[in-house]
Amino acid sequence: MSTPSIVRTNTADLYDAHVLKNYARAPLTLVRGRGAQVWDDVGNAYLDFTSGIAVSALGHCHPHWVATIQRQAGELIHTSNLYRNPNHGELARRLVGYAGPGRVFFCNSGGEADEGMIKLSRLHGVAKSGVEGKCIKVLVAKNAFHGRMFGGMSATPQEKIQKGFRPLVPGFAVAELNNLQSFADLMDDDTTAVLVETIQGESGINPCTTEFLVGLRKLCDERNVLMLLDEVQCGIGRTGTFYAFEAAGIRPDAVAMAKGLGGGFPIGAIWISERFADLFQPGSHGSTFGGTPLACAAGLAVLDVIEREDLLAKVRTRGAAWIAALQQLAVDFPQQLTTVRGRGYLVGLQLTSDPASYVTAMREQGLLVVAAGNNVIRVLPPLTATPEELARSVEILHAVLVAKA
Ligand SMILES: *Cc1c(COP(=O)(O)O)cnc(C)c1O
Repeated sequence: MSTPSIVRTNTADLYDAHVLKNYARAPLTLVRGRGAQVWDDVGNAYLDFTSGIAVSALGHCHPHWVATIQRQAGELIHTSNLYRNPNHGELARRLVGYAGPGRVFFCNSGGEADEGMIKLSRLHGVAKSGVEGKCIKVLVAKNAFHGRMFGGMSATPQEKIQKGFRPLVPGFAVAELNNLQSFADLMDDDTTAVLVETIQGESGINPCTTEFLVGLRKLCDERNVLMLLDEVQCGIGRTGTFYAFEAAGIRPDAVAMAKGLGGGFPIGAIWISERFADLFQPGSHGSTFGGTPLACAAGLAVLDVIEREDLLAKVRTRGAAWIAALQQLAVDFPQQLTTVRGRGYLVGLQLTSDPASYVTAMREQGLLVVAAGNNVIRVLPPLTATPEELARSVEILHAVLVAKA
């Protein structure tokens, strides 16, 4: 028998011929990564400050994470949720340790985590009003992003995301971020929940103020309305606290997480407070793949490294110095860069024009970053990024600002 011949086709050609055209991709084929660096198929190195859109929290191929996944892959990968496995229980315990008394459900993505919270809001509405289908109103914020599934997309008040997919899931009303009065005005007896990102990611790193989160917590308590936080992007240490809401000194009724949780292995989760966790009963929700031994091993390895390497404290102090350096660029180049927003390693650079040409120029200088809504560039280093790597990103941004001045 002859060995089947391997047809070597250019990756770009394969994409052109066979991959769905739902993404406008950069002309770059990545083949290898280590820490904050990635390499393309012709050997160029890049400083990866996209972290796979806030996913590769430990950088690429962290040795502890790789060894954990390799060991688990040889032991047990999947069993379904019909049975228990130790990693699932242990990861739930550790997430509860960060969030507070409550329970955890595992899924595979941020979108699924948001769907779970939206379903929780429906169950709360039934408990609150005594009937199904009446108390379903969920207040969301302008410019929010809650994923691409039907519930989350319907909760995402952005034409570019909803266009072509109507009719949407009913029941969402849009208030102004950081405007407590606008949330209060929309809240009525049929309101079951508010859903906000603690720091809006996709629309350009717009943080909720502490005052707003504290006020929202109080309003939700007074009106028996669930406070649901979407921390899919800003959670898991990205802002220098494990959950971004910790900085405001409040605790939501449920939180959605995903991106950084598996460090690159797909896993999502929702934590629900003790008070509301039992709204879900056997048969009311599920996921075939959610929380496999392998996915939970990856999540445990991420938490191990965050704790052992003291990454939360490092992200706080290194992040503050880095943001100060970026803010100096805004002072020096006000015609191009107006503000630097964010906390820790979740940073948005507000430009005065379309970020696309800046993103390209930075890539050509060896730095990968992501565009976001409203003329913003998102810079999302791995939580392990060193002061030298952060400084290098400032140098590259400086060079690009000079070149484009
Ligand atoms: C990325 C993101 C989602 C969607 O997560 P997926 O894993 O892509 O489904 C939801 N909410 C927020 C805030 C996100 O940043």
